[in-house]
Amino acid sequence: MSQASEGRDLRLTQVEKQFAAFTAVHPLDLVVPQGTFFALLGPSGCGKTTTLRMVAGLETPTAGTISIGDAEITYEKPYKRPVNTVFQNYALFPHLTIVDNVAFGLKRRGVRDTRKQVADMLELVELTTQATKKPAQLSGGQQQRVALARALINHPEVLLLDEPLGALDLKLRRAMQLELKRIQIEVGLTFVHVTHDQEEAMTMADTIAVMNAGRVEQMGSPAELYENPQTTFVANFLGQSNLIAGAVQETGNGVVRVDMHGTAVSIPAERAHVNAGKAWVGIRPEKVLIAPAGEPIDAPGNHMRGAVIVDTSFIGVSTQYVVRMPWGQELTVFEQNTGARGVMAPGTTVDVSWRPEFAFLLDANQDVNAGTEEE
Ligand code: ATP
Repeated sequence: MSQASEGRDLRLTQVEKQFAAFTAVHPLDLVVPQGTFFALLGPSGCGKTTTLRMVAGLETPTAGTISIGDAEITYEKPYKRPVNTVFQNYALFPHLTIVDNVAFGLKRRGVRDTRKQVADMLELVELTTQATKKPAQLSGGQQQRVALARALINHPEVLLLDEPLGALDLKLRRAMQLELKRIQIEVGLTFVHVTHDQEEAMTMADTIAVMNAGRVEQMGSPAELYENPQTTFVANFLGQSNLIAGAVQETGNGVVRVDMHGTAVSIPAERAHVNAGKAWVGIRPEKVLIAPAGEPIDAPGNHMRGAVIVDTSFIGVSTQYVVRMPWGQELTVFEQNTGARGVMAPGTTVDVSWRPEFAFLLDANQDVNAGTEEE
């Protein structure tokens, strides 16, 4: 994060967008610190592209203000904003060489000698050897890097990326994620990235805003969101979660105690997003420890006995179990393949447990399946 250039944060204040009677973006407050990589993550239709387009100037907010540093840009024309956008469909000029594609913005602004800047940009995106080719002669990943160079050469303060890797196959997308992150760190600009791919957002972003139905559900670092989701939507959309019905018994001493189908479990207060009444006890599959009935489990407390494995999938790095709990619910358990134990077959009676510090507690009024269909 660049400290020297503080004060050029991108700031959205109560920004709202309505299309006729439909509210695509509910009043939204967002601060993207200068020089950080920010991701807007959410399923199709959640309003992330509309938010990005308002920053680009391609949509006008119904209400609210957008500013970069002290300068308000809410109604500024797109080309007058210190903002550039890279789209999924690169939009390169097919008849121009890579060099001329990258030089385009500079030439349009009347810069005569573009050679040095273009050469630097091509080096940044590692395309120096492709300079004289036309876009059609490049791979998808290379074309995307040209689009990036073409935007970056204009020295925007904020670079907007609208699903820029969506058209690439999985392997190339992974490589480009690391590449994009490297470039962002190297140029130190503010990147705002729109994606529906949680892994992509987690790989690259310093901060993620998870959007659902036109609202930000939660904002934080990838680890914060993953380890301590505040809503069922975030718990299910970012990775997987087991959500188990429970009822709060008491609170105090920094923990919330919950009765979960007859088992007393405790949740650290800072991970409890409800502290009375009914609640969902959340635990990630890899945090659940499993052992054949009666064998010791390396987790204090919260032991649950009498579970039965109903499905076993060995996937090499881990084994994924589905276990039926005594109350009938099926939980997902990922066990790392350390070699300490063989794979357990369906039908095996097991005990499960988890360390209380890994559980979280969510509002029982929220839909237990929110965020799962989008996976
Ligand atoms: P996707 O990943 O599919 O692009 P998104 O999260 O980016 O989804 P938006 O494109 O921001 O979603 O759209 C949010 C909602 O606003 C959607 O329900 C969409 O149908 C609606 N919408 C977007 N643009 C318009 C428009 N010009 N007129 C009417 N409704 C629109």
